[in-house]
Amino acid sequence: MENTTQCAIIGSGPAGYTAAIYASRAALSPVLFTGVQVGGQLMQTTEVDNFPGYPTGVLGPQLMEDLRQQALRFDTEIIQDDIVEIDFSDRPFRLIRHSGEITWADSIIIATGA
Ligand SMILES: Cc1cc2nc3c(=O)[nH]c(=O)nc-3n(C[C@H](O)[C@H](O)[C@H](O)COP(=O)(O)OP(=O)(O)OC[C@H]3O[C@@H](n4cnc5c(N)ncnc54)[C@H](O)[C@@H]3O)c2cc1C
Repeated sequence: MENTTQCAIIGSGPAGYTAAIYASRAALSPVLFTGVQVGGQLMQTTEVDNFPGYPTGVLGPQLMEDLRQQALRFDTEIIQDDIVEIDFSDRPFRLIRHSGEITWADSIIIATGA
């Protein structure tokens, strides 16, 4: 199966979801690929005390759920899969998922963290 998007985002950590919030608010209808670690590194921790907007701190998984909900609010499509290959040689760019499915994207934001 194949699909197309104006903006593909790779990664579901704070960087990926932040990109999705901005891209979706800009009406780009982004498609975000979560990768294996859904929610990124902060899913592994308890108290996060240094994130703006949480004066009493927040648990890592709760923070990531809040970011996910905010990304979904403006029409982000979230796909639970890894990107295993990208062809940047031509436009639109071609992303190949672990499942073998293909996504064509006008732009790609890589937010794969560490
Ligand atoms: C135990 C622990 C506690 C921490 N506590 C704090 C804290 O209190 N405060 C703080 O500021 N920072 C903390 N950090 C650091 C913080 O987690 C990272 O700085 C932050 O998560 C980086 O965000 P990111 O979005 O760049 O990447 P990450 O959170 O690393 O997310 C990367 C994402 O990319 C995805 N990905 C990777 N490869 C692919 C691929 N091929 N296809 C699709 N997706 C892919 C992964 O699945 C993941 O979703 C902590 C880290 C750890 C491990």
